[in-house]
Amino acid sequence: MVQVINSKTFKGISPNELMEATYRAAENFQVRAFYEAKNEILKVGKYTEEDFFEILDGMIDAETERKLVLERLKGKEPLVLEEIVKIVKVFSPDNVIRDIIYLKEQGYIDEKIEVKTKKVIKKIKGEEKEVEVKEYFYRYQVKDLPDNFIEHYFEPVSIVFEAEVCCHCGWCSSICPIDAITVTADTLDIDKEICMKCGLCFTVCPRSFSIEQALMNIKKLDKSLKFSDKINGYINAYSATTTKNEIKKVRQDGGIVTSLLEYLLKNNLVDAIVAVKHSDDLWKPDPVIVENLEDLYQTGGTKYANASTLTIIDKAKKYKNIALVGTPCMMNAIEKSNLFPSGVPFFKNIKYKIGLFCMESFPYSGVLAMIKEQFKQDFTKVTKMDISGGKFIIYLDSGEDLRVPLNEVKSYARPNCHYCEDLTADYADISVGSIGSGSGWSSVITRTKKGEELFKGAIQDGLIESKSLKDVKPGQFLVEKIGGIKRNKCKPIDLKNK
Ligand SMILES: Cc1cc2nc3c(=O)[nH]c(=O)nc-3n(C[C@H](O)[C@H](O)[C@H](O)COP(=O)(O)OP(=O)(O)OC[C@H]3O[C@@H](n4cnc5c(N)ncnc54)[C@H](O)[C@@H]3O)c2cc1C
Ligand code: SF4
Ligand code: SF4
Ligand code: SF4
Repeated sequence: MVQVINSKTFKGISPNELMEATYRAAENFQVRAFYEAKNEILKVGKYTEEDFFEILDGMIDAETERKLVLERLKGKEPLVLEEIVKIVKVFSPDNVIRDIIYLKEQGYIDEKIEVKTKKVIKKIKGEEKEVEVKEYFYRYQVKDLPDNFIEHYFEPVSIVFEAEVCCHCGWCSSICPIDAITVTADTLDIDKEICMKCGLCFTVCPRSFSIEQALMNIKKLDKSLKFSDKINGYINAYSATTTKNEIKKVRQDGGIVTSLLEYLLKNNLVDAIVAVKHSDDLWKPDPVIVENLEDLYQTGGTKYANASTLTIIDKAKKYKNIALVGTPCMMNAIEKSNLFPSGVPFFKNIKYKIGLFCMESFPYSGVLAMIKEQFKQDFTKVTKMDISGGKFIIYLDSGEDLRVPLNEVKSYARPNCHYCEDLTADYADISVGSIGSGSGWSSVITRTKKGEELFKGAIQDGLIESKSLKDVKPGQFLVEKIGGIKRNKCKPIDLKNK
């Protein structure tokens, strides 16, 4: 077993304690399964030997750290994460938050949720009214476990698919070290013959266990961010539109996504982009790797059928720097794997994450059925689809547009989107959507320094014109309102038999 311990990570821990924790970490099922499958993993070739040892060392370090965190919390009363980081000072606060959530999943820690109500004054239809709001307090306590306790083992993600909560983002298939998983927009298949039961797919899956508390509390540590419980942490919010005529011809709203991607390619900040274009079946999205502007323009516009974009991230490994466009569930998947199991990213070349707002998506068969049954149209005549002002809208090649109330087409949407609480791609570098801005403009939320610099760079290059989202109507108010509605309506996921 590899025993490389980064002494900087464990500064302040006695050699005896560190040795004991490392031995316990080496017993972890995930570490063992990954280590024991070394030859098969290297044969598949997704990860090089250097990648393999970096991932393995990262897993051992993180596991060792978790055992040390656990020791420091034994016998303590239930505490909120802010209190815990003050007690476990030997590790950085974001690491400790990450560790607590994983320890909960491993079966060592209980999460206790307390709900309190408080009265606040709110403006409702212009009138100030006193309303009750709920506040949630998440506390964590180490369980009193028997000596022979065996930490939880994570099943492969077939249990996520079978529970009908898989969003088909495709991340598990890119991550799987031995290529045992095949994901399409509506299927997921695991080759049981070759699966080595490492549980990595379960760890990184956005639908296996929630990391909302971890991510929210980590974001809150960054005091430079503004924070809203409806749209999460952000730097700035804008309304923006492209200045380029070529992009205006293919865009969905403000053409901001394509403009940002053009800026990245032109300035050599990335050498490829992972996005989606129309497949040979019209309106069926096809994940693609794009290297030039001509191909980039083919990705413009929204396809409302879901795409398994993350299935091709491993195919983009040969590129040094890539940008990814995707829905909030995909941003969540990437962020989860940047935290778990170890904080070592599986694909370090993902440099920019551009997230799309998303209320729901539709299965491809649902899009076709909706056009036929609700609009009584031939889908080959549809030139654009849009959701705006509570209506699903289709534009026809005759120049006509037809509208149906959103409520009447909701039944065509994917049921697994009901388990999604994120409207505004909380974990992207920059999020783009239509809600809040006028026709031909996009609402843009910058969330990381990198996202803000990208947006400012595209403005300086003359690709985008922009104003504050606060200066447009309905603006940020509507984004937050709908973001809050999506969070409140989200169904909880409860995977049994883990
Ligand atoms: C399924 C879905 C649902 C959405 N729902 C909402 C909503 O409820 N409210 C809202 O405000 N905005 C929603 N959006 C976002 C909105 O439709 C626009 O994509 C966004 O405003 C960006 O517009 P743009 O003109 O800047 O993008 P463009 O410059 O036209 O670029 C569009 C980008 O979207 C990508 N894309 C297109 N279809 C898909 C897909 N199926 N999966 C992944 N990526 C795709 C393309 O690769 C392209 O890079 C949704 C997007 C999708 C894909
Ligand atoms: S990672 Fe994505 S595709 Fe894989 S099981 Fe989870 S939700 Fe489904
Ligand atoms: S399917 Fe999941 S558990 Fe099996 S080898 Fe792949 S990542 Fe590991
Ligand atoms: S609603 Fe959520 S799960 Fe469904 S496509 Fe959008 S981001 Fe993904």
